[in-house]
Amino acid sequence: MPSWATCANGHLFRTCRGAAAAIARDGSAARCLENGCTATIAYHVKHHYPNKGSSKFTVTHVVRVNDDVQAEREGYDPMLLVLKDDKTGESVLWTFYWTKNRKNKWHVGQFPPLFDLSGFQRLLEGLPADLRMSLGIRGSAA
Ligand SMILES: [Zn+2]
Repeated sequence: MPSWATCANGHLFRTCRGAAAAIARDGSAARCLENGCTATIAYHVKHHYPNKGSSKFTVTHVVRVNDDVQAEREGYDPMLLVLKDDKTGESVLWTFYWTKNRKNKWHVGQFPPLFDLSGFQRLLEGLPADLRMSLGIRGSAA
């Protein structure tokens, strides 16, 4: 799944993980930091389906299990991405993680992340209210 993050003025965001963290922190209002640019960041993902072509999505929400300090300490940054299909408007969920490689650099995880129950509950509770309601999840985002 190729992915990329740009602002409305075309600046490529430093890293997709940085864009994900900004969206997790600031929601869809996450801003570009390039040379005084303050345009909104858009994080895009293209998914290829076997024998069915592909779809392009925009990341609308990100819920992280760990904050920046925990992620650094554990070298593990699992999260739940809410992707909106650019054509149909349908929302889909994608579990994802970054991990530190041997050079202590963030690297895309190769397998779906594992969550303990409390971590997964935190992800679900962090979803926007309309999606929580669609899933029948009670409880509020802290
Ligand atoms: Zn920009």
